[in-house]
Amino acid sequence: MRIYDTLSRDLKEVNTTSSTVSMYCCGPTVYRDVHVGNLRTFLLSDLIRRTLELNGNSVRLIQNITDVGHLSEDFHEEDKMLAQSRLENRDPFSVARHYEAGFHSDLKDLNIIPADLYPRASDCIALMQDLINRLIAGGFAYCGSDGSVYFDATSFPSYGALSGNRLDALKPGHRYEYAGEGAKKFHADWALWKSAGMRTEMIWDSPWGAGFPGWHVECSAMSLHFLDAHINVHVGGMDLRFPHHENERAQSNAVAGEECVDLWVHGEHLLFEGRKMSKSAGNVLRLSDITNRGFDPLAIRLAFLENRYRSQMDLSWDAIAAAHSTLIRWRKLVRSVPVLSLKVHNGLLQAFNEDLDTPKAIQILRAIEKDSKESNVAKVESLLYADKVLGLDLSRAETETQLTDEVKDLLAQRADARAKGKWDESDRIRELLESFGLSLQDGPAGQSWSFDASKRS
Ligand code: AMP
Ligand code: ZN
Repeated sequence: MRIYDTLSRDLKEVNTTSSTVSMYCCGPTVYRDVHVGNLRTFLLSDLIRRTLELNGNSVRLIQNITDVGHLSEDFHEEDKMLAQSRLENRDPFSVARHYEAGFHSDLKDLNIIPADLYPRASDCIALMQDLINRLIAGGFAYCGSDGSVYFDATSFPSYGALSGNRLDALKPGHRYEYAGEGAKKFHADWALWKSAGMRTEMIWDSPWGAGFPGWHVECSAMSLHFLDAHINVHVGGMDLRFPHHENERAQSNAVAGEECVDLWVHGEHLLFEGRKMSKSAGNVLRLSDITNRGFDPLAIRLAFLENRYRSQMDLSWDAIAAAHSTLIRWRKLVRSVPVLSLKVHNGLLQAFNEDLDTPKAIQILRAIEKDSKESNVAKVESLLYADKVLGLDLSRAETETQLTDEVKDLLAQRADARAKGKWDESDRIRELLESFGLSLQDGPAGQSWSFDASKRS
């Protein structure tokens, strides 16, 4: 299998020489619900893993949970967890566990095969301290006069190779994470360990005084520890290329004395209404927003697969609706023939192996579906083979009722009315929906529905 490698800026064969391919995917910062943009990136590691398994490889995948140390650039570099804990007026660890559970539930709904381990940053403080000690001993890090420990960027000659941000071109005053430090020797150095200062929560003792770890050191410590110091495939969203992965590469390679990651994969961003989906842009769509409109959660998985992971994708409701109908149609076709044994389809395998060309795989499937000379058995064989990677659960017995456009529209109108606090309007629409046989439940994640034919009028 070949994938585009950000470091060499070329397609590169995945290193499958060991018995198990080691993969690391940067996980969520658990201070809020994940949005479908995050899920597009988490899906990327699932697609790589499934393709490798289709080729007969076994995979070990680690995905971290960031529950400390990720500082917000907007709010005076406050820890995102502590800022949210203040907003919700509860303990930061309980905030973290709440959103971590939501993350796992979304992955399940998206049919993403669970990672082998989801280590939390707050459970790996000793690992990070050990790595920092080794960096200091090797002359790559130093203690600042403020009690924080910094990585010395100039000690790592190939700094910038991943992102193209060369040290001599990085100007002071540019916004770096952990900027504003008077104790750094060089403006591009970054904190591995931050002194607690006035902070009283989420801090730990260390050889350098009480404090907390930096975000970048977390991923070096965990990937090296849980994957035996060598990572065959490292995955994350494009925005993590700099500074997060640039810094991770420097830290890991500095202690290991070699290139620790064989292949750096970066997924392009998901846009919604023309802009990168993000909390700060205010255009966030969660998986529950999609299911609340009556769409199968795997409709968004199919909508993602219709676009190459390396291109930006502008999501629309029309694309989700079209994917939903394709899903229902394919599942019906699969159910119409008896259970079959799987046969390799070379064209599909080639599409997956060549930098995850999922749009091509789907194009092949559509052509087979339309081909009147193909038997239904042959069509279903191809669908089920592709589903090993696509993960659309095509052999699932379809119990879901297809919603008409009118009902979908009413569900959306009611969600909108509730969001605006228009309760009379929301009740009016509820009655209408009940007359179509839908039973509605309102919970903290929004409205959900089930089909209750007894209510139909
Ligand atoms: P965070 O929880 O913010 O650390 O992000 C988790 C993952 O989601 C990272 O790999 C990000 O690069 C990725 N990500 C964030 N926003 C988007 C987006 N709009 N589209 C695709 N991936 C994203
Ligand atoms: Zn990371």
